[in-house]
Order: sequence, then structure tokens, then C-alpha cells
Amino acid sequence: MIRPRDDVALMEGYHSPQLDVRVRLNTNESPEPSPSAWVDEVAEAARRVQWHRYPDRGAVELRRAIGALHGVGPEQVFVANGSNEVLQTLLLTYGGPGRTAATWEPTYALHAHIARITGTAVAQGERAADFSIDTDEVLRVVEEARPSLAFLCSPNNPTGMVDDAATVAATLELVAGVDGLLVVDEAYGQFAPWSALSLVGDEVPLVVTRTFSKTWSMAAARLGYLVGPEWVVAELDKVVLPYHLDALKQAAGVLALHHEAEMDARVARLVEERGRLVAALGELPVDVWPSGANFVLFRPRHLGGREVWQRLVDRSVLVRDCSSWPRLDGCLRVTIGTPDEDDAFIRALQEILT
Ligand SMILES: *Cc1c(COP(=O)(O)O)cnc(C)c1O
Repeated sequence: MIRPRDDVALMEGYHSPQLDVRVRLNTNESPEPSPSAWVDEVAEAARRVQWHRYPDRGAVELRRAIGALHGVGPEQVFVANGSNEVLQTLLLTYGGPGRTAATWEPTYALHAHIARITGTAVAQGERAADFSIDTDEVLRVVEEARPSLAFLCSPNNPTGMVDDAATVAATLELVAGVDGLLVVDEAYGQFAPWSALSLVGDEVPLVVTRTFSKTWSMAAARLGYLVGPEWVVAELDKVVLPYHLDALKQAAGVLALHHEAEMDARVARLVEERGRLVAALGELPVDVWPSGANFVLFRPRHLGGREVWQRLVDRSVLVRDCSSWPRLDGCLRVTIGTPDEDDAFIRALQEILT
């Protein structure tokens, strides 16, 4: 019988259980539904699609609209089905057999996972004790592995930490020194006080990825993008499947950008709610890490993370069990929800821990 490639057969796959619970705080989605005006506009747009024709292969209108949002031209924007597909296309283009991608753990698991699926070797460095990026460790990994691609994630999933501009600039210099490409994953970029988008330029081997899934309340639409040098975007366009972005998705993305003010307001509400949730966690016997995103990492001091996770599920509250991440044994990650959802989470956790 046919078997998968040996390395694929050994892989674990991506595990994030989708359980049927009342309070879902496990995947960092927006707790608020998409703006209803946008939903109506998308329904209208569906009627105007020429469904018998292939969509605009270059997704030009969408790229232009995203470029305008960031003050760059459409030739500096690559769009795909979620930022995970952006990451995959980067790895298919610049990774592959004989090449290496570098990560600093603990970080977003799919950077290493997608790298391996594309046959790219992975060099995993370590973050510092407080989970910040240590540029000596970046230097060590870059010198040893000479990666084609290096991944930062800021704010970092699942720790919530934002890398500062000096750290990203120093990493960029080291990666550029071995002719590599630095990828800064800013899935939660709207929560951070600064963005690596300010470092993007045609001479700079840097791309910044973003997604509509989290801050834009559009996880179901599967839409993500990167901003980077034109010569990178041109290579990615060669690799990605033709017509990978369907016509309705392209229209939905353009329409979403008309609701930027609404998105900003949602981000502001979540930041306020995050403050409330962190304060409530501070009253409980858990360690909490400071977060610049829409989720918070914490570790119960006296009970195992897995046990607390299960007892939360028993109370119909789902959070993310981070035990399988390196160095996060016993840690849980909770997404900021609506005030009601967060109250339900805090009440359940109080019952379990006190
Ligand atoms: C959620 C997430 C993504 C993936 O987002 P999609 O656009 O939904 O594919 C990428 N990177 C990080 C760090 C994330 O947390």
C-alpha cells in the first residue's frame, strides 16, 4: 500500500480541538461577529461575481487596497488563503530540501511545522527566560544554520510578547548577513505599539505577514497577506497555485478595508478587556505573562495545566492547552472574549483553583 513520505509519516499534524462548548477562548478569534454592514455587502457582491469565469489571477484590486492601507504599491503585496498559506508559499519558494528555516521557541508552532512539510530543515533556537528574543542566541543560530528563512512572531503566539524595534532590526541585520529572508509574523500586529512594516523596503530582505482572521473578525474568510519587496512578491506569484484566491474572497477583502475604523474600535475594546482579565488572573494562584495581543498565557501554580484545561471544558469553557510547546509545560492560553465570556472563564477558574 502507498505510504506517505517518511518524514510526513512521522509528523503529528496540527492539533487544536474544536469542541462544542459554550465559551470558546482557544483560537484567538475575535469574539465579536464581523460588522453586519460588511456581511450585507459581501452578500451583494456574491450576486455580482461572474461565477463561470476564473477570478482575477493577480487579485489586483485587493492588493491595491491592502497596499493603500500600508502606503505601498500592489506589487509589494502578496495575498493568500490565510496567512498560513502566505507562510507556506514563502517556504515553498525560499525553503525546501537542502535549506533551513530558523525559529526561536516557544513560538507559533506552524512556522516549524509548515517548514518541515515543505522539506525544509528547521533550526530551533531558544527565547530568553522571559520569552524575549536574545540577539546573542539569534547570532548563534544564524551562524550555525545559515538559514534561508528566519521567523519572528510579534506579538508572539502563545506568549504575547512584542519584540521591540531594536531587536527586529538586529535580527534582520544578522539574517541579511547570510543572505536569508526575515519573516515577521504580525497576525496580532494591530495590538502592538509599533510594526516591522516600518522597516520594509526594496533593498531589505524582510517580509511582514498579516491576517484578516484575528483583529478583522473574519477568520471564516481565510484571508492573509504579506508586505515586502517587489522581487520577493514576484517569486511568490510564480509558486502559488493559479487562481488560488476565489472571486468572492477578493471582493470580501476589498470591502473589509472600508471598515477599518470598526476594526480599530474592536482592538481598543479587546485591549481594555484584556486589562480586566489580567487583573482578575492576578487574584488567582497562577503565573501570568504580560501580553501585547488578544490572548494571555498563564500557568496554574498548584494544579497541572492539562487538569485545569479539562475542568474548564467540564464547565463549557475551552482554552488552549500549551503543554506540548517546548518550555510551556503546564501553561494555558486564553483568548480575550466578550465581557460575558471572560466572566464565565474567570468564574470557572476561581471554582477550580480556590
Ligand atoms: C492565527 C495565526 C496565523 C494564521 O492565521 P490565518 O490567517 O488564519 O491562516 C498566523 N500566525 C500566527 C502567529 C497566528 O496566531
